[in-house]
Amino acid sequence: MIKRFTVLPILLSVLGACATAPSSDPRALAVAQQAGDPGCSMPMLVATGGPAPRNPGTLAIRWTGFTNYELVYDGQVILLDTYFDRGSTFPPLGFSAADVKRADLILLGHGHVDHMSDAAFVGTRTGALVVGAPVTTEKLLTQPIPKAQVRTVTGRGGELMRFKGFTVEPILGKHGDPPPNVAKAFGDALRTTTTPPAPGQAAELARIRTLGISGDPRVVTEGTIAFLFTFDNGFRLMYRNSGGAVSEYEKAVMERVGRVDVALVAVSASYVQELTVKQALEHARTYRPDVYIPGHHDGSYNNLWRATEPLFQALKDDNPNIITVSRSYREPVCFDTENNIQRKRQGG
Ligand SMILES: [Zn+2]
Repeated sequence: MIKRFTVLPILLSVLGACATAPSSDPRALAVAQQAGDPGCSMPMLVATGGPAPRNPGTLAIRWTGFTNYELVYDGQVILLDTYFDRGSTFPPLGFSAADVKRADLILLGHGHVDHMSDAAFVGTRTGALVVGAPVTTEKLLTQPIPKAQVRTVTGRGGELMRFKGFTVEPILGKHGDPPPNVAKAFGDALRTTTTPPAPGQAAELARIRTLGISGDPRVVTEGTIAFLFTFDNGFRLMYRNSGGAVSEYEKAVMERVGRVDVALVAVSASYVQELTVKQALEHARTYRPDVYIPGHHDGSYNNLWRATEPLFQALKDDNPNIITVSRSYREPVCFDTENNIQRKRQGG
C-alpha cells in the first residue's frame, strides 16, 4: 500500500506534464511561441470547434486517419480528403462528419471511398470549395452538393489557385498499384485470421462504399492529384494521398521548386516493407522535405496498419537530416511558417 501512495503522485505529475506539454514545431524553431497555445496542443479539429493557433503565421496540422488532414492557417480551415464516417469496423476518430462545421477548402487527392465519402456532406454544410480531378468531381456531382462549390483540376499545369496567404498547385500524380499476388496473399491471410464484419457492418460498409469511386481505371492514371501549398512567406507543403510512383509532372514541379518544408505522404499499400520502403524513398527523394509525415497507415479492425518505423529508419539512413513525425488521431503538429527553406536559401 505504501508503495502505491509514493508512486501515484509521480505518475500523476508525469501524466499532468504530458497533458499540458505544448506540441512543438518538430524543427524546434517555435517552441516558445507555441508554448501554452491550445491551438497547438488540443486534440480537437478547428473544423469541429477546436481552437486555432494564436499566431496567424502558425500552421497547425492534424491527422485524422488515412490521408485525412486538417490544416489551419491564418484563420482558414483546409481539409485534405474527407473520409470521417468510416463505419464501426474502424477505430473511432473521435468525431463524425456531422461534427464538422467549418471548412474553407477541401482538396480531394483522389476519389476512392476512403478519401471522399463525406465530401458532399461536409462541403455542402460548410460551403467550402471542393477540388478534385475530373473523375473525382464527376462522382462528387452525383451526390447532393451545389455545383458552384466544385472545381475540377487536371494537375497538368496552369491551374494555380490563390487563397489568403497561400497558393495551391494541383499536380497530376499516380495512384498506388500494389502487386496483385501480394495483395491477394495478405487478403486471404486476413480473411482467415480476423473477425469478419457482422451482417449489419457489411451493409454499413456497402452503403459508405457507394460514396466513392470503385473500379474506374482513370483514378490510377488521371485521377490522383498531389497538391503543393506555397505560403506567401515561402513555406511549402506537399500533399500526396496515394502511395503510388512519382509522376513526370511531380518531377517537373519539384525540379522547379527544389524542396518542401513538409510532406504529407501516403504509405504504399504493398504490405511488405521491401516495397513500402522503396516507394517512400522515391517520395522523399523527390519532395526532399525537412519533415515527413506519413498517412494512410491506419486500417480497420480486420486489416493491417502499415508500419511506419521501418520507413522512418530507411528515410533516415538515406538522409540523416530528415525529420519524421507521426501523431495519433487529431493530435496537432504546429509549424512556424516564417522559418522555412526558401527564406534560409535567400538568407532571410
Ligand atoms: Zn485509392
